[in-house]
Amino acid sequence: MDSSKRPAPPANWRARNLVSIDDFSDSEIAYVLALADYYAPFVKNGARPDQRLAGKTQINLFYESSTRTNLSFELAGKKLGADVINVPVAASSVNKGESVLDTAQTLAAMGAAVMILRHNEPRIHEMLAEHIPCPIINAGDGAREHPTQALLDAAAIRSALGKIEGLVIVICGDIRHSRVAGSDARLFRRLGAEVRFVGPKALAPDDAALAGFPHFDSLKEGLSGADIVMALRMQFERMGEAGKAAAQGYFESFGLTHKTLKFAQPNAFVMHPGPMNRGVEIDGALADDPARSLILRQVFYGVPTRMACLDALLTGGK
Ligand code: ASP
Repeated sequence: MDSSKRPAPPANWRARNLVSIDDFSDSEIAYVLALADYYAPFVKNGARPDQRLAGKTQINLFYESSTRTNLSFELAGKKLGADVINVPVAASSVNKGESVLDTAQTLAAMGAAVMILRHNEPRIHEMLAEHIPCPIINAGDGAREHPTQALLDAAAIRSALGKIEGLVIVICGDIRHSRVAGSDARLFRRLGAEVRFVGPKALAPDDAALAGFPHFDSLKEGLSGADIVMALRMQFERMGEAGKAAAQGYFESFGLTHKTLKFAQPNAFVMHPGPMNRGVEIDGALADDPARSLILRQVFYGVPTRMACLDALLTGGK
């Protein structure tokens, strides 16, 4: 694949929003991943791509904290020439009780061309997508979906291993409360990988949509033959008492270290969507090992992948 040329868009770009990873068809996913590869050297070298979003207003509306997602969406929009506004939620009329819909309608009336929303209320993204006249991109909703994280993880894996098809990808830890797990697992499977979950039973998925993925409660068994092992953060903020009890002693049974990574393929890589709890789900020495860790590569791919999503959704690639 020659990533120095802008890829051709699918014949008819259809997706209007990116609320779920399933909003993109296979050809739309292939196009967005190719476009992320095309934009990656611009990000790496600080070069200026075509200002395809010049004159468009991008609103980042984050009701939950974020470092990587918020900043990389901001950078992505700016690199493509958009006017990017970060809504200071804590200092806005939200704290006077304004509803999300009223806030979003207000921002839309100011001419928003796209809204990037992080909010933990179930189905709020779908509701806004019905009422707001511009595309909505889901930047994380509770424990359900984080579609741009899945796309950037796929882009990072492809850049390291050249493919996803045929890989064994293991997602470890707090699957139940993670929005990354669901979006990643479904995307990796669509791209042809074998996907497994590993972790304590109390943190296994309870979402019916994930019932088809095998779950192992032994790290040794689950990691056998793995090419990629992704650790997830313990989502303490979303856990009940059973989850918190399962998180006790987690590192001893499931923590990823140079030693436990030996259960996987000899050249297996570790990943983590961040923020990491060092010494809880992953050992710091492994996370920092450039020969074994793709974690900073994931962060890097956040920018070109989000450029690709914004470009594709706002221009349909035309
Ligand atoms: N940053 C990711 C998210 O927002 C992962 C995490 O918070 O654990 O879902």
